[in-house]
Amino acid sequence: MTDAGPEVPNAEVPAEDIHVESSADFAAVPDAFQRLWTPHRMVYIQDGQQPHKDDCPFCLAPSMDDEKALIVARGTHAYVLLNLYPYNSGHLLVCPYRHIATYDQATPEEVAEIGELTQIAMRVLTEVSHCDGFNIGMNQGRIAGAGIAEHLHQHIVPRWALDANFFPIIAGTKALPRLLGDVRKEIADGWPAPHTS
Ligand SMILES: [Zn+2]
Repeated sequence: MTDAGPEVPNAEVPAEDIHVESSADFAAVPDAFQRLWTPHRMVYIQDGQQPHKDDCPFCLAPSMDDEKALIVARGTHAYVLLNLYPYNSGHLLVCPYRHIATYDQATPEEVAEIGELTQIAMRVLTEVSHCDGFNIGMNQGRIAGAGIAEHLHQHIVPRWALDANFFPIIAGTKALPRLLGDVRKEIADGWPAPHTS
């Protein structure tokens, strides 16, 4: 009689030749499809030179007009702009104005406003783009994947149920159905007016 379960080791096979796979070895498998695998970005990260403060794009952007810098909102201590290298349409970055590299260097005021702008960005993106979820986070240091490691920035990536496809895997290309300028205007127009207190 054949057992429908796992194959029973043959009694003639020496015990040391029997390889038992532990489910713990595969702990990462179930959530593999929830991750943004972007190996093409490693080329950009590895080839990219870390800018000096004088030509840091996140220091430069606030001095430009919103359309040119892709800025959607400006706060007192931090501002929000579209990522020039988006994972998805509407991929936003929240940056402090100060040229600081890591989150622990941010002042309480900067931490509070980065958090507040992140919340508003989620609401606006949900309203204007009807996304189903978000990936939010900070890559701290080049080794962690930060493209501009010297200037802190929080990623807000809207996600849709069917946004993952084979393009990034086989072609190193992320399909982005909308132009940055159009997306910027839509988000900026949807951003609530700053409250005065
Ligand atoms: Zn900077």
